[in-house]
Amino acid sequence: MSLTIAILGRPNVGKSTLFNRLVGKRLALVDDLPGVTRDRREGEGRIGTLRFRVIDTAGLEEAFDDSLEARMRQQTEMALAEADVALLMYDARAGLTPLDSHFAGWLREQSTPVIIVANKCEGRAGEPGRLEAYELGLGDPVGISAEHGEGLVDLKDAIEALA
Ligand code: GDP
Ligand code: MG
Repeated sequence: MSLTIAILGRPNVGKSTLFNRLVGKRLALVDDLPGVTRDRREGEGRIGTLRFRVIDTAGLEEAFDDSLEARMRQQTEMALAEADVALLMYDARAGLTPLDSHFAGWLREQSTPVIIVANKCEGRAGEPGRLEAYELGLGDPVGISAEHGEGLVDLKDAIEALA
């Protein structure tokens, strides 16, 4: 498996739900290194014929002494270092938050290609929130529903266009 994908974003946007859907029962390992990696999960992901290694950055939900922003960056830097493609996920129903925008600005300066993923787009409730993300300058926001398994073919197309 030569393609590695990291799922990034603030807490509660649906990163782990997407991870679980991509990996299914093929969970490879739970990282038990100390510190911020202790919570990280990675596995063999699949969308149709596309296979990849996928990293779920879960450490943001952990209680650390640092600021949320610092923790986010620490987790992200480690996952990014290994990733060929980063998925920056946000909650399209909630709309973009300042934290999402701040994080996107930082990611834009990194060398790893980024796909902006608008989650919770089942039905039509996510569409206004999906369109908001055009302002981030990360290309077309890919609307998905991690919970309902919608938009995954669009996500596959976006990954294949970058990888
Ligand atoms: P994480 O903190 O980014 O890993 O987010 P989780 O995967 O733990 O999900 C946070 C919450 O969002 C949970 O209550 C999920 O059930 C919910 N959620 C995840 N994906 C979707 C989705 O596609 N649509 C909706 N409506 N809720 C979702
Ligand atoms: Mg999670």
